[in-house]
Amino acid sequence: MSVSCKTILASKVSASFREQMKKDIKERNICPKLVGFLANEDPAAKKYAEWTAKTCAETGVAFELRKVDKQDLEEKITEANEEKEVNGIMVYYPVFGGKQDLYLQSCVSTLKDVEGLCHKFVYNVYHNVRYMDETETMKCIIPCTPLACVKILEFIGVYNTVLPYGNRLYGRTITVVNRSEIVGRPLAAMLANDGAKVYSVDVNGIQVFTRGSGLKLTAHKVEDIDAKVEDVVPLSDVVITGVPTPHYKMPTSLLKEGVIAINFSSSANFEDDIKSKASIFVPSVGKVTVAMLERNLLRLHDYQNNLLEQ
Ligand code: NAD
Repeated sequence: MSVSCKTILASKVSASFREQMKKDIKERNICPKLVGFLANEDPAAKKYAEWTAKTCAETGVAFELRKVDKQDLEEKITEANEEKEVNGIMVYYPVFGGKQDLYLQSCVSTLKDVEGLCHKFVYNVYHNVRYMDETETMKCIIPCTPLACVKILEFIGVYNTVLPYGNRLYGRTITVVNRSEIVGRPLAAMLANDGAKVYSVDVNGIQVFTRGSGLKLTAHKVEDIDAKVEDVVPLSDVVITGVPTPHYKMPTSLLKEGVIAINFSSSANFEDDIKSKASIFVPSVGKVTVAMLERNLLRLHDYQNNLLEQ
């Protein structure tokens, strides 16, 4: 086992965000309310709901878990959209899976969408639009798990703070193994928008996301490439995995010496000997995701109150 590999736990990365939230909520004497809808029996979703409840209790957020039948979910979301005391709404996916879940994501009011999964927010990620308003007072809400991965990369120092904001991943090569609309594709887009060259791997093939030579483009472009995992992983400074099966393992032998390895899947996607090759290993990201959920909630709480005052 390498002594030079450092394991970074999500709890360590999320600690400063949780502390900041707690302080902010206490000092301002506010109590933002988050409603979570659980309409499945998925153990990963239940675990996520437990973490949400625990973190909310620690930071001073009012969290209410509403267990509903999936056939009633759309109606219950619509009701929560109208409830004045509810500042944020989230749904523990998958519910129906596929396109029906995409439809449900668009049912949550934009101003309560703490997960950042509605069309407008995901569109803004894909088009590198960073503010919701022309005067740039309201930052866009960003999908929680991609945002958690970005915050982990910032914590580790992969973002180069000497470079200007928006270009801080220039020169980095990153592989993301997952291209779902919830995590992998928005994550690849965000990393490329910040200047990285991103290989996005899914079951059907590999795409490369970049801002073009010399970062000439204002938002990323995507190209299909005829390459295999064996071609792109050895080139990558960072490898992020999110394959939802315990059978999938990224071969350690493919990884670059000193790679940064991050797993957001509920299954362990790296082999047991990952620490023999990686300089930094992040085994899971869930606690940072919950911290980002709360951060988004506080932002939406403030946007709602600012709009009421106008
Ligand atoms: P999904 O099923 O929608 O997407 C899976 C992705 O993995 C797809 O792009 C698919 O093509 C790709 N994939 C599957 N097998 C592959 C293979 N052999 N090689 C390359 N790519 C392959 O799942 P999802 O919603 O994106 O969730 C993925 C995992 O991440 C799950 O384990 C989920 O629990 C976890 N997750 C964690 C968080 C968190 O915050 N920790 C949040 C969301 C999802």
